[in-house]
Amino acid sequence: MKDIKFLEIERLDVSEWRHSKKALRLKLMGLDDGASLSMLCGIIAGRKAGPIITVVAGQHGDEWNGTYICHQLYNKIEPQDIKRGTLVIVPIANPWAFLERDRVSSIDVVDMNRSYSLAESRKPTEYIAELLFKKIYSQSDYLLDIHTGGSGEYLPNIGITGQGRVELATKLNTGYVVVAQKEFGSLIYACERASIPALSVEIGRRLSVDYKSCDKFLDNGLLNLLKSLEMYPGTEDTNPEQKLFTTKTLVTSPGSGFFHSQVDLGQVVNEGELLGTVEPIFTSKLEKIIAPAQGSVLYLRREEKVSVSDTLMHIAYQNS
Ligand SMILES: [Zn+2]
Repeated sequence: MKDIKFLEIERLDVSEWRHSKKALRLKLMGLDDGASLSMLCGIIAGRKAGPIITVVAGQHGDEWNGTYICHQLYNKIEPQDIKRGTLVIVPIANPWAFLERDRVSSIDVVDMNRSYSLAESRKPTEYIAELLFKKIYSQSDYLLDIHTGGSGEYLPNIGITGQGRVELATKLNTGYVVVAQKEFGSLIYACERASIPALSVEIGRRLSVDYKSCDKFLDNGLLNLLKSLEMYPGTEDTNPEQKLFTTKTLVTSPGSGFFHSQVDLGQVVNEGELLGTVEPIFTSKLEKIIAPAQGSVLYLRREEKVSVSDTLMHIAYQNS
């Protein structure tokens, strides 16, 4: 890591960069003992000015797919590949949580992705979120925020805060676009409030890297988006057959025990269909899990041991 340059984040001005590629260690804040907290950031700028697109991962420290995608993206692209504009890559937005391999860090147990647009940012995670928003995210023309599932796995999908972003979301070619609830405090919501087009990405589950899905997302999705923005050479190839979901229903566990699924991610199920069972401890009578609506399985629990009311699946559909 000897080529990584140390820079105070206050001195960063991404719009000034032309024809260069650098990995920076941005100093975010000083700590009580005189040490400092820093964050890795990759910047790849083309010769010509153009859109600044920021790819963010690792707001939650147990979600590694986005960090891996950022790592591959940085290695893959050289300044001469960028026809115009600048790519800003933030692989680990929440370094403390990443070190702890947890969704939030034990420093303040604050969810970074609920820390934007707050009236006051007092806790360290909120302070960092605000700082990154001011110096990097709000300076972008487009933003992608990559996440993963928790105890369950997501079908790779793109989340948007409103239907006006459907066309942009389809450029990422995951096949599934979800109009997510406007979660106050989330990064994409804060960006959209600042008129910055923002997409969230969900791939896989926590504490694991789905290399195949990540590589596919990078080659068929992220690079396709860059092509559509005329930032990267090649012709855009966007799949016209992608599903839009405007609603999702959560299927929860009727009891505690061992969960057996009878469906797969992406499967279309009908209302009343048997989705799986829960097998309570010391009991042979299985509890049935019935589909509450017709739709596609967008999220599927991968942890076999479940408690009552745990989320087992998300069934997503388009509200007519
Ligand atoms: Zn997340």
